[in-house]
Amino acid sequence: MLDRVEIEAKLKEVSKDKCVAFAVRSAMRVLPILALPRKNDLKAKLIVKSSEVFWFWGNDKCFYLLTLFRAYSFDIGFVMDKSSFKYHARYKICSSEAADEADDSYYAADVAFAADAAVDATDLTSDKNYAAHAASYAAEYSYCSARKINFESFIEQAVQNDLRELASLTAQEFLQQPLWTKTISDEWMQLYKAFMEQIETLNMGFDVWLSLYNDLVTGCPIDINKLKFFNNIPQELEAQGVAKVNAQIKNLIQNNGSQPLNRARTIFIGYGEAGKTSLIRALHGEKVVKGKEAMTAGIEVREWPVPDTDIQAHFWDFGGQVVFHSTHKFFLRSSCVYVVVINARADINNSEQAEYWLEHVKVFGGSAPVLIVGNKVDEASVHLQMQTLSQKYPNIKGFYPLSCTHAKTSHRHQFVQFKQALTHELQEVGIHQMLFTPAQANVLEELREYSPDHAFLSEQEFHRICDKHGIINEGELNREWLVDIFDKLGVMLHFDELKAFNDSYMLNPRWLTHGVYTLMNAKQARLNEQDMVSILKAAPVQDEHQHLLSYPPDKCLFISKAMQRFRLCYPLPHGANTLLIPALLCDELPRYPPELHDEQTLRFEFAFNGFLPRNLIGEFMVSRHEEIKNDLQSQRGAVFVSKTLQAEALVEADYHRRLLVMQVYGRDAKDYLMILYDVMIAVFGDLALDYREWVDLPRSALDTNSLERELLKLGNKVEKAEYKQLIETAKDNQAKFISASGLKYDVKKVLGYFLSESEQSRQGITNNFYGANPTVTQNKDQQVSNQTVNISHSTIHGSVLAAEKIENCLNTLQSSPADNDIKQLLTELLKHIAELNSKVPAKVLDPITRDAEDLVNEVNSDNPRKRNSLFSLEGIKDAAIALGETAKPIIEIAEKISPLLQSF
Ligand code: GDP
Ligand code: MG
Repeated sequence: MLDRVEIEAKLKEVSKDKCVAFAVRSAMRVLPILALPRKNDLKAKLIVKSSEVFWFWGNDKCFYLLTLFRAYSFDIGFVMDKSSFKYHARYKICSSEAADEADDSYYAADVAFAADAAVDATDLTSDKNYAAHAASYAAEYSYCSARKINFESFIEQAVQNDLRELASLTAQEFLQQPLWTKTISDEWMQLYKAFMEQIETLNMGFDVWLSLYNDLVTGCPIDINKLKFFNNIPQELEAQGVAKVNAQIKNLIQNNGSQPLNRARTIFIGYGEAGKTSLIRALHGEKVVKGKEAMTAGIEVREWPVPDTDIQAHFWDFGGQVVFHSTHKFFLRSSCVYVVVINARADINNSEQAEYWLEHVKVFGGSAPVLIVGNKVDEASVHLQMQTLSQKYPNIKGFYPLSCTHAKTSHRHQFVQFKQALTHELQEVGIHQMLFTPAQANVLEELREYSPDHAFLSEQEFHRICDKHGIINEGELNREWLVDIFDKLGVMLHFDELKAFNDSYMLNPRWLTHGVYTLMNAKQARLNEQDMVSILKAAPVQDEHQHLLSYPPDKCLFISKAMQRFRLCYPLPHGANTLLIPALLCDELPRYPPELHDEQTLRFEFAFNGFLPRNLIGEFMVSRHEEIKNDLQSQRGAVFVSKTLQAEALVEADYHRRLLVMQVYGRDAKDYLMILYDVMIAVFGDLALDYREWVDLPRSALDTNSLERELLKLGNKVEKAEYKQLIETAKDNQAKFISASGLKYDVKKVLGYFLSESEQSRQGITNNFYGANPTVTQNKDQQVSNQTVNISHSTIHGSVLAAEKIENCLNTLQSSPADNDIKQLLTELLKHIAELNSKVPAKVLDPITRDAEDLVNEVNSDNPRKRNSLFSLEGIKDAAIALGETAKPIIEIAEKISPLLQSF
């Protein structure tokens, strides 16, 4: 038996590097187990039908396989070369997803959990003890997956051997020892061979990873230069898919290339007058004089060489018009640092200013690092509740009160500190940059030299440059690929609509952004070609290299195409080349048809907890512009009429209440609602939005048994239900939905009102449910208990779902074969959770209930798994700690349960 606690204790005595090396070695040993067929019978033929290869990951098998390999190489990078390593939360997210997704498999989930635990061990924000803890789990998971094929004794030996070797070798030497010290068992070799064959059937270029893996198995020395190729995969390359990622790694290895992109972006945001432009000036060493700065029109881009690196940072200075922020999406995203500038002197409270802009960063910048600058401290002091802010926005890297006007004099010291911090962050984002082969890098260099004088590049010219540098035009990484990756990295913009132009590629983002913002700043919602030409004619500017940016008429069309691609505008129907920019329309909603207030109108709401970006409604309108009815549109929404269905809809934003509301009516309203819903979700894209979805509960679905008294209380009010909760209720076979006021609604009727039958079955709601639900969750092998436990519904405000789940859990426990002590403690725990239901909102309670449900199911299963149960228990405990005093008993009981789970 492998004793995890003992392993953890031993690992605590060695360095973090050694823990990581130990973890990744443990994880890698069990990788070939993924080759087992559905039935884990080693004696059965290991040749698996190609459709069955890595079946447990479904359609995402290639992505998750890559994830596992990347997890290993990421750990190896940590041990071998700290200087080119940065902890990446994304690795962690992907590896735990890989494990969750493989949960259907008897053995694969543990293989992935081992890799996931190994990634945990590298976490730079945690201490050495945590690394030892995670590494011990990596060993335990590898042991668990091996046990399922009776292979555990080999793992145990290897682990014990590793623990012995740890003391005498350095972490790097230890990592490069052969994976198996004794001869490798035949079974493992057989599996490994099958694994390699199966990978080959995927035809995705995984051989590069297999070769790295094989080096580790056999103890070949690791080539640090080569390792960079495996670890520098930026988001932009990842977005192109597994085959492209693998092909580029192979390409880099073969051509020994390692030219980094050497570009990063810094986005300066904050209210107007905060001092963004002044700060950029000060960073360039220029003098800032109070009152001398003209307001920034649109956006400015300036370059800044990052000290001690070859990286050029592009500083983007937004003029304050928030609607432009959506255009970020089209330029380099993965190497971006945000600077939020707040104005010490402004009337708006400092913390409120910061929060407002931090919400922006969260939505548009994802997990990009943020520095906060409190400017103008020469005139007023700045105070921020940094602890609260940092908790809410973990990407904040620091707060710098400073003065741009006194950056070289009295406040020099603070300014230098900020400059150092910014430099550090830019160096950090530059660590895992996109790498290019020498040939690719030559093309890039030539484009860069070409771009200041030429905003555009023709297709022929691009081919000429590729020919010159020997970029061939076939295989995975052909010229089309290069265009795509350059586009994603913001080096050279290209989109299909531009094929019609002779000059197909746009090289100078400054030309484009300046053009777009100039048009937007003209504040004219409807623009025809002539308007555009004359507005832009008046606008030529010089870039920082004193090159004139001019806008000849034939190029103006390019800007309008780009604006359509950014979803900033759309062509008006029969409009003789007229564009409409929703963001510039009036704010007043036009008069809408009276039918909308009809009883039959379906109402769906997206309610935002944080910030509701202003560009969403405009983008939605652009996406469906062909259906906008009779010019019934404004900055805040429009009326749409379906071209194929009999339905109309009013979709609008309410910024005051932070809502996006869709009201749909007509015979096919249900179907149209679902179409518009999908469009809205597509508009949200990968923005990190925080929202919930609500539907109006139709009165006709009210339970007829509802008391008159309650109905009276309701008056004319229409109640709402959370859409997802409603769907879950139906999936859970519940017949009734209990609203916030305690009224019961017939689930079947409510859903029938919103969703067509086909949509219901797509959502996994079966036809034969509704009401047939037994209160007792039956355990397959056991007799059904007659006793049911009831929790009074009278106290329920929050979550009916949670109450039902707890009730089911209690019943499950009663009939469970589990140990009596555990059963008793769990019952107490569940009762305390049930009590919380009347005290905390559903949003808070639902995750706790889910964890409790998982825990009970795990305890009740034939073969309970320790990590899973501990994991659920941790979830409950964390949530309880966050709730404070009210949830104290829960923490106490959880503490008592924890040691009992250790024996699983
Ligand atoms: P932006 O709109 O955020 O780009 O702000 P600007 O850089 O244009 O600055 C707004 C005004 O504040 C200008 O008149 C600046 O000269 C002034 N300003 C900038 N930094 C400071 C500072 O540190 N102290 C004081 N007193 N004024 C400043
Ligand atoms: Mg400015």
